[in-house]
Amino acid sequence: MPELPEVETVRKTLKKLVVKKTIENITVYWPKIIKNPVEVEQFIDALKGETILDVGRRGKFLILYTDHFAMVSHLRMEGKYGLFPKDEPFDKHTHVIFHFTDETELRYRDVRKFGTMHLYKKGEEFLKPPLLELGPEPFSEDFTKEYLAEKLRKTNRKVKPTLLDQKVFVGLGNIYVDEALFRSGIHPERLASSLNENEISILHREIVATLSEAVKKGGSTIRSYVNSQGEIGMFQLELYAYGRKGEECKRCGTPLEKTTVGGRGTHYCPNCQRL
Ligand code: ZN
Repeated sequence: MPELPEVETVRKTLKKLVVKKTIENITVYWPKIIKNPVEVEQFIDALKGETILDVGRRGKFLILYTDHFAMVSHLRMEGKYGLFPKDEPFDKHTHVIFHFTDETELRYRDVRKFGTMHLYKKGEEFLKPPLLELGPEPFSEDFTKEYLAEKLRKTNRKVKPTLLDQKVFVGLGNIYVDEALFRSGIHPERLASSLNENEISILHREIVATLSEAVKKGGSTIRSYVNSQGEIGMFQLELYAYGRKGEECKRCGTPLEKTTVGGRGTHYCPNCQRL
C-alpha cells in the first residue's frame, strides 16, 4: 500500500505527464470506483472539456485539479495511473480511462478495485469526505510537538494505532510508523498517554525526519519509474524495521521481532524498544 512518500512521488510524476492535457471523454468500466457524484454519467459530463491544471496531494490522496473541478483519488492497495497512446491495448484491470484530445490517455488500473475517486467543484474538496476529517499534514505548521502531545495524552489507545489514525495527523502508514517508532526507541504497544515529554519530542522529530527523508529519496534512490506496463511505480526506501523480522537490528544487532498491534503486522527491536 503506498504511503505519503510514495504518493508524493506518484504526484510529481503524474503532474509531469498530464498537466495541460484536455479531457475529451472518460470511459468507466467499474463504476464503484466513482464515489461522488453518485451517477457516473455526471462524473463524466463534468470533466468533459476540462484541462488538467495541477496535481496535488493531501495525506495519501492525490488531487487532480482541472479548470472547475478537483478529483480526489485514493490508490488504496493496488491502484496505479499510467499514460498511454490511445491505440495501445489494455487489460481487464483497467477500470477508468481519461481520453485526452492529444490521442493519449490516462488509465487507472487497480487489480483489487479498492481505489476511490470523488469529484467536487474546486474549493469544496476539503469540505467533503474523504478529505474533510483529515488531521494536519506532517510537514505543516499545525503539526507541532505540542499538538502531537495533546493528541497522545487524550487517548486510551496504544501509540501505534494512534499514529496510524489519519484524523490525528496524515501520512503515516504501516511501514513508516514502524520506522518512526524504531528510530524513536519507542515500543509500538506503549500506551500513547504514557509517553513523557522527552519521548514525544523525539517521536515528533523522527516522524517528520522519516517521512521527509523518504520523500527526498523519492527523487533519488526510490525514484519513480514507469514499468513495462507503463504504470507509475516506485522503489522502496531502505528500512530499519519494517519487513526485517529475524534480521539483526541495525543499531544493536538483536534479531528484530514481529507481532500484531491493532490488527497490523508490526516490526520492532525488543532491545531498543522496550515496553
Ligand atoms: Zn536494537
